[in-house]
Amino acid sequence: MKQENSKKYFEEACQYIPGGVNSPVRAFQSVHREAPIFAKKAKGAYLWDEDDNRYLDYICSWGPMILGHNPDFVLQGVQEAILSGSSFGLPTKKEVELAKLIVQSVPCIEKVRLTTSGTEATMSAVRLSRAYTKRNKIIKFEGCYHGHSDALLVKSGSGLLTQGFQDSNGIPQSVLQDTITIPFGNKEKTLEYLQTKEIACIIVEPIPANMGVIESQKDFLQFLREETQNYGSLLIFDEVISGFRVALGGAQEYFKITPDLCTLGKIIGGGYPVGAFGGKEEIMNLIAPLGQVYHAGTLSGNPISVRAGYETLSYLMQHKSSIYLDITKKTEFLVKEIEKLIQKYEIPAVVQSMPSLFTIFFSEKEKVTNLEDALSSNVDFFTIYFNTLLENGILAPPSQFEAHFISHAHSEDDLKKTLKVIELAFQKIHEVM
Ligand SMILES: *Cc1c(COP(=O)(O)O)cnc(C)c1O
Repeated sequence: MKQENSKKYFEEACQYIPGGVNSPVRAFQSVHREAPIFAKKAKGAYLWDEDDNRYLDYICSWGPMILGHNPDFVLQGVQEAILSGSSFGLPTKKEVELAKLIVQSVPCIEKVRLTTSGTEATMSAVRLSRAYTKRNKIIKFEGCYHGHSDALLVKSGSGLLTQGFQDSNGIPQSVLQDTITIPFGNKEKTLEYLQTKEIACIIVEPIPANMGVIESQKDFLQFLREETQNYGSLLIFDEVISGFRVALGGAQEYFKITPDLCTLGKIIGGGYPVGAFGGKEEIMNLIAPLGQVYHAGTLSGNPISVRAGYETLSYLMQHKSSIYLDITKKTEFLVKEIEKLIQKYEIPAVVQSMPSLFTIFFSEKEKVTNLEDALSSNVDFFTIYFNTLLENGILAPPSQFEAHFISHAHSEDDLKKTLKVIELAFQKIHEVM
């Protein structure tokens, strides 16, 4: 497969942009590629690179494209919105409509603020929890990613894991000392810290997907819900990935556990830059101009992004009974068939999934339940897997520690084609085992 243009652009990119990319996982470093592929366009389940190779896409922009790339109705809405101007620094009618859709859909959200990214949403939600509880310390779980703000960038999975380190440099000790990290699923440690009554909030990905997909235990989330209440801490679900994905109302609807606050992003922008945080009215009313917790943004609630989000969420709401069933079925089919292939070729691997998300961990473990388990994976096997797929026109996430995303646009034929290529990859892995 010819990738000359991508190589050429990457070489040039490296002269002007650190590492040639604006987000580290895009560099394809951990899968030993000379250069990443440079995207030219995408439509539905497919993406084309600058050498005009076509790929069946399982990155899906890392989550936003639940309906596939560039659906016509989103494109139309955005084209219409652009004609009226790009940004006003004033409120607009559509952002109220988007906020209303979010409040109607997500159980914990009585009021919501829009941001430009998921990072801003989690940063602000944590600030709000500190103001509300008048406490400083927060708990996060190892391998959960909540964006790249200082307080949350500790043992934070995602791109850091891919690059082979766990914590970022450049974060003051004074900030780190207020962030407590605990292995996902560890009740004893969590309880121990909650009992100090110094914890402002626990922030958690209710379905961890940034160390690969961890099939979440309802039981653990229920425990977090009850014990945060018992000790006066807030519970924040970071639903930037799971929101509007595993159900319209996200993981909180799926598991029927309602946090105090939650954060959204990815899907709610329909591929454009949006994030959001929301929750109980009593808490949200502490935000300025009502209260003294500051949150703002020149492009917060940007009309173009809001229109894309509005069209996406409206579509999801109108078709919710068919879409969520469809992506669940597709995921189950793919996972079941991959499991058969794993057995057939005796690959040391386990597939873990939630509706529309999955990871093949090349690990001897029966289940991967936390960061330590995830790190037991054989990344050399993953590299063979990734490169075999890429060379055969299938774009998997370029990291063992990320999720494959299945969209509504992925057809049955697409999935069958994928399985053929995965079989090829497993044959290669079997040969080197
Ligand atoms: C992607 C992600 C974020 C950060 O969102 P950005 O828009 O990339 O800043 C936060 N939390 C989770 C769970 C995410 O997956």
